[in-house]
Amino acid sequence: MTDTHQLDAILDAAIFAAQKHQGHVRKDEQASPYVTHSLAVARTICNIGKVNDPTILIAAILHDTIEDTNTMEAEIQERFGEEILSIVLEVTDDKSQNKLARKQQQVIHAHNLSNGAKIIKLADKLTNCLDILHTPPKNWSLGRRREYIQWAADVIAQIRGTNPSLEAAFDEMLSQAEKTLDYKLETFETVNDRPWGPNIDASSP
Ligand code: NDP
Ligand code: ZN
Repeated sequence: MTDTHQLDAILDAAIFAAQKHQGHVRKDEQASPYVTHSLAVARTICNIGKVNDPTILIAAILHDTIEDTNTMEAEIQERFGEEILSIVLEVTDDKSQNKLARKQQQVIHAHNLSNGAKIIKLADKLTNCLDILHTPPKNWSLGRRREYIQWAADVIAQIRGTNPSLEAAFDEMLSQAEKTLDYKLETFETVNDRPWGPNIDASSP
């Protein structure tokens, strides 16, 4: 990918994300700059997934802007176009729902995502789970770290067959998690088996 126009658009997305996430930090002990995560997701797509499609890389850099900052849809549409906005919206949780409902929705709807959104979902979950192994959110119990990785595994189970390299890296992370967090991941059978399954009342906060 050597096209100057495409490189410029990717760097512009990095500037946009850095400005939008300004003052926003990750949950790790050191409170790392949030935008590091946005860029890490895009880099993972590139260097592990071997994907160099600028549309996907830009959407990856912007993937948490609408969910976590005051970014308006129109800003992304005007600056980066309709296709990128559409992918970003696919990976944006509905924050009017409670956390359990959002977790359920991710498991239930993952298979409906576009290819670009699935790639971002894979890289986002891989990046977050590696963070949970190496630089976890402060004050998270062992149980909470285990639960997050189990949930991420259940989301990713819905989109297998998207990118073998990212999925292999995810599987490697899962076996590392089983050792580091000393537990055994459960095999996903049906969504109903999980606390984020559709039969659970998600109305409680
Ligand atoms: P959160 O959704 O609150 O936090 C995880 C998210 O934080 C990630 O998806 C990631 O999102 C972002 N993030 C920021 N910094 C980091 C980091 N260093 N490492 C990893 N992720 C980071 O947590 P949960 O998924 O646990 O959701 C809350 C749920 O947990 C609720 O349903 C609640 O009931 C339950 N809970 C469980 C407890 C337990 O002990 N088991 C205790 C309290 C609550 P992004 O990519 O969007 O930035
Ligand atoms: Zn993210």
